[in-house]
Amino acid sequence: MSRHIAIAGAGIGGMITALLLKKQGFEVSIYEKENQAGGRLSFVEKEGYRIDKGPTIVLLPHMLKGILDEAGVSGDAWELLGLDTLYSIHFKDGKRYTKYKDVDRQLNELSEVFPGEEEGFTKYMEEMRKSFEIGQASFLEKSFTRKRDFWTGKNLKSLLRLKAYQSTKKFAGTFFKDEHLREAYSLQTLYIGGNPQTAPAMYSLIPYSEHEHGIHYMKGGYASLVKVLTNTLQEKGISLYVDSKVEDIHKEHGRVVSIMVNGRTVKVDGLVWNGDFPSAADLLDDRRNYEPSSGCVLFYFGVDGKYQDSDVHQFFMGGNFDQHMREVFQEKKVPTDPSFYTFNPAVIDSTLAPDGKSTLYVLVPVPSGSHIDWSQESTFIDRMIKNIEARAFPGLTEKMDWMEVRTPNDADQEGLFQGGSFGIAPSLFQSGVFRPQAKPTALENVYATGASVHPGGGIPIVMQSAKLAADQIIHDFAHHSSTKDVNLNEQLNESISPL
Ligand SMILES: Cc1cc2nc3c(=O)[nH]c(=O)nc-3n(C[C@H](O)[C@H](O)[C@H](O)COP(=O)(O)OP(=O)(O)OC[C@H]3O[C@@H](n4cnc5c(N)ncnc54)[C@H](O)[C@@H]3O)c2cc1C
Repeated sequence: MSRHIAIAGAGIGGMITALLLKKQGFEVSIYEKENQAGGRLSFVEKEGYRIDKGPTIVLLPHMLKGILDEAGVSGDAWELLGLDTLYSIHFKDGKRYTKYKDVDRQLNELSEVFPGEEEGFTKYMEEMRKSFEIGQASFLEKSFTRKRDFWTGKNLKSLLRLKAYQSTKKFAGTFFKDEHLREAYSLQTLYIGGNPQTAPAMYSLIPYSEHEHGIHYMKGGYASLVKVLTNTLQEKGISLYVDSKVEDIHKEHGRVVSIMVNGRTVKVDGLVWNGDFPSAADLLDDRRNYEPSSGCVLFYFGVDGKYQDSDVHQFFMGGNFDQHMREVFQEKKVPTDPSFYTFNPAVIDSTLAPDGKSTLYVLVPVPSGSHIDWSQESTFIDRMIKNIEARAFPGLTEKMDWMEVRTPNDADQEGLFQGGSFGIAPSLFQSGVFRPQAKPTALENVYATGASVHPGGGIPIVMQSAKLAADQIIHDFAHHSSTKDVNLNEQLNESISPL
C-alpha cells in the first residue's frame, strides 16, 4: 500500500510531523506557501542584524529535547542556555519583582519585595508540581480524536484538580494576597494569547513550569532551529517545496485523494494541515466558529550599542493591567496604557548584530481582528516608543539604527486566523477535547498539527501536537483495512457521548 503523506505548511508542527513519519517509512512531502520554512519561527534580518520575529522564550526544555531526539534531530546542532534570572516584572508604581530558577533566591526576593508571601509561593510550587504530572499525562500527551477518550472519570477528576472551572487570575489569588503577585503568576496566558481573567487555571502550569523547568535561550536565536530542521529534512530525504501553496483538495468517499499545489495535482494517501487550522475550515468542511487569540504589535530595533545591564526578558506593567486585558479581549480597542514585554538577547548572545551593536524586540498585547487599521495608529506607535524609551531602554531613539513594526494586520495577511498571534484562544471551550484534534474532521485521512490544534500554542506544545498527529497516522495506516468499520462505530458511539 502506498503511503504518501503531504503536509501543508513548514511550521514547527509540519516539520516535526514529517520527521516522525519518515522515520516510520512514510513518503513525506512538505508544501510551504512562503519562500522559506519556519512560519512564525523566523528572524527579522537586516544589515547584519538579526532578531527573532516571534518566539523568544524557550519553555519545557525536556519536552523540546525529547521530541527533537525522537524526530532524529542531532543534539549537537543546537544548544540551550539556561537563565538563572528568569525575568523581571516592573510595575508602574516602582515595584520590581524578579523571578529566579533558584528557590532560595526566589524566597529571598519575595521576603524583600512582598514580605509575608513566601509561604504562598512554597504552597503554589508544591501544589503545581502534582498538577503538572497530571496535566502532562492526562492532556498534553493525549489526543481526543474519540471524544469518549476525554470524558472519562479519571479525566474529569484531573480537570477538577487542575481547577479548569477557575480563571488563572483567580487561581493565583488563592496563593498570593498582593495584586502584583496575582498578576505575576497569571499574565503568562498572554504567551498563548489568552486572557488571564478567563483562561482556565490549568494554564497556570506555565508560570509554575518557568520556575521548575527554567526558561532557556536557544543559542543564535530561537529561529536558528529552523536551519537545523531543514538540514535534517534534507538529510532524511524529505522533500520541502517552498512557494508552494496548497490551494485546494479533492475528496472521494470521505477521503482526500489529491491536493492542488500551484495549479498542479498531487496524489496523496494522507494530508496533514499545518497552516493555522481555521484557515482551512472551508477546504475541510469544518463549520465550527472559533475565537482568535490576542494579537500583538511588535517592535524590532537595530541599536548602536548594548543595554548590557538589563535582563534578557522583562515585563513592564501598565497602570491598570485588568483594564488593559478588558481593552484587548472585550472592548477590542487600541489599549490606552498597555503592559509590554521586552527581549534583549544581546545580554547573552553577541552573534546577533555587528560589533558593539545589538537588537531588541518589544511585544505589546493588542486585540486581534481586522477592525483596527493599524496603519492609521501612528499616535499609538509613537506613544509606545516613548514609553519603551522611558521605562526600558533609555536613549533608544538616539541609538536606533533601524526599527520595524508588525501588527495584527500583517499577521492576518500572512494567514493567521483574524490576525491572532497564537492560534485560536486558549479558552475553556477551545481547550482539551474542544480544540481541533490531530484528526480534526470527518475526513478519514486528514490530520492537523499546529498552534490552533490540541494541545495548543508555543513551540514545545506544537511539537507535541506534531507527535500526536504522527502517532494517529501511524495507527490509522497500520489498521487501514478495518478503518471504515471502526470509524462508523466510533461515530455512532460519539453521537451518544455526554457532549
Ligand atoms: C509574536 C509571537 C511570539 C511568540 N512567542 C513565543 C515564545 O516566546 N515561545 C514559544 O514557545 N512560542 C511562542 N510563540 C508561538 C509559536 O511561534 C507558535 O506556537 C508556533 O511557531 C506555531 O507553529 P505552527 O506549526 O502551528 O505553525 P506556523 O508557524 O504558523 O507555520 C505554519 C506554516 O504553514 C504555512 N501555510 C499556511 N497555509 C498554507 C497552505 N495553504 N499551503 C502551504 N503552506 C501553508 C505558513 O506559511 C506557515 O509557514 C509566539 C508566536 C508569536 C506570533
